[in-house]
Amino acid sequence: MTTNKRIIAEPNCDDDYDDSSLTPAAALERMLEGVSAVVASETVPVLESLGRVLSSPIVSSIDVPAHRNSAMDGYAVRSQDLPTSGTRDLSIVGTAFAGKPYQGTVRQHQAVRIMTGAVVPDSTNVVVMQEQATLDGDRIIIDERHKDGQNVRAAGEDILRGTTVLESGRIVVPADLGLISSLGIGNVDVRRRTRVAFLSTGDELRAVGEPLGAGEIHDSNRYTLHGMLLRLGIEIIDLGVVRDEPSAVRDALSEAASRADAIISSGGVSVGEADYIKEILAEIGQVNFWKVAMKPGRPLAFGSIGKAIFFGLPGNPVSVMVTFYQFVQPTLLKIMGAESQTPLLFKATAANVLKKRPGRTEYQRGFLSRGANGELLVATESDQGSGILSSMSNANCFVVLPLDSGRVEAGAVVDVQPFFGIM
Ligand code: AMP
Ligand code: MG
Repeated sequence: MTTNKRIIAEPNCDDDYDDSSLTPAAALERMLEGVSAVVASETVPVLESLGRVLSSPIVSSIDVPAHRNSAMDGYAVRSQDLPTSGTRDLSIVGTAFAGKPYQGTVRQHQAVRIMTGAVVPDSTNVVVMQEQATLDGDRIIIDERHKDGQNVRAAGEDILRGTTVLESGRIVVPADLGLISSLGIGNVDVRRRTRVAFLSTGDELRAVGEPLGAGEIHDSNRYTLHGMLLRLGIEIIDLGVVRDEPSAVRDALSEAASRADAIISSGGVSVGEADYIKEILAEIGQVNFWKVAMKPGRPLAFGSIGKAIFFGLPGNPVSVMVTFYQFVQPTLLKIMGAESQTPLLFKATAANVLKKRPGRTEYQRGFLSRGANGELLVATESDQGSGILSSMSNANCFVVLPLDSGRVEAGAVVDVQPFFGIM
């Protein structure tokens, strides 16, 4: 046992303490520097803009709401008629419905029955909730508790005419569909969809439905890539599985470069096996092979083939997902023309010990929950192997352990990056 431990501790070619490794932040910075946004845009109906990137800002040409209106069902009254002490009788002279204003004039000691959203009649500036008024035939009795302006929504209270409500670069969410519609805008300008071609490399890979021979596995990376790219609103070009053969890789990558803004491959970037891929990429493009000080996902390729940006991801299924979310997604967002977003990390208490060696950033798979006192707790998946794809399915967050950190004790506070937001 002791001997084994010593051997593992000796420097070797898998050593994580490697001066030539880039930090994840430096790798991402280089990728972001290396790309620019697609320029073309198109005009689409609002309903089709969900998930698209706005290429022009949305500016309001109206006040929202357009008129002063009531926040309650009740009675619109003049502030001069509010009693300072005791009560006062007011006679009801009409009704204001949402979309059907009261047409007359409200005079001294008069009130108008008013519904939520209805225009507040000109001379009135208070709405008395119906529960706070006593109805007596065609009169109401009100007391002294009411204030000027109460329950009246001002015109332009949500949005003033001329306001930029959504900036160019915004990815449209459901609230925006409503917001844009509330301005009466029916069509919006969005960037054209970014096209991404992707492929899996490996002689051991068999498609779903094909029987597995000795040592063969089903290709899963193209499926996770498919899902991650669709979630981003990418137009996908699935180039299938490519054999570990120079001519096949050359043909596939050349085709991909002619059709896509970006290319993603998985597999074949680790030392040794990757050699001919490197050769081909050197021949048809400009690609850097990086060692990134991270786990999982250490070997990574980034560059360009023709006009297309190239990402060469590792083959292990978890590494594919981690490198996608940490590097490919933010870089694709820039290509898509989306405003940059720094990932939102939360602090959570580790529910168990987290094994970790200093010298690399780790993205462990964790499950976030609320503890008995409402605090965020994170438990990690027991098998953190880069081939254990079920650890991604079972997890709901990454536990991001910084470069310098070593083993983390249970009860310590760590950073987590949740997988899902609400919108
Ligand atoms: P590689 O980077 O090509 O050496 O692959 C590393 C590991 O990931 C190997 O165990 C591969 O069999 C596995 N792998 C590579 N590509 C895929 C894929 N598309 N789906 C599932 N596993 C893969
Ligand atoms: Mg391979």
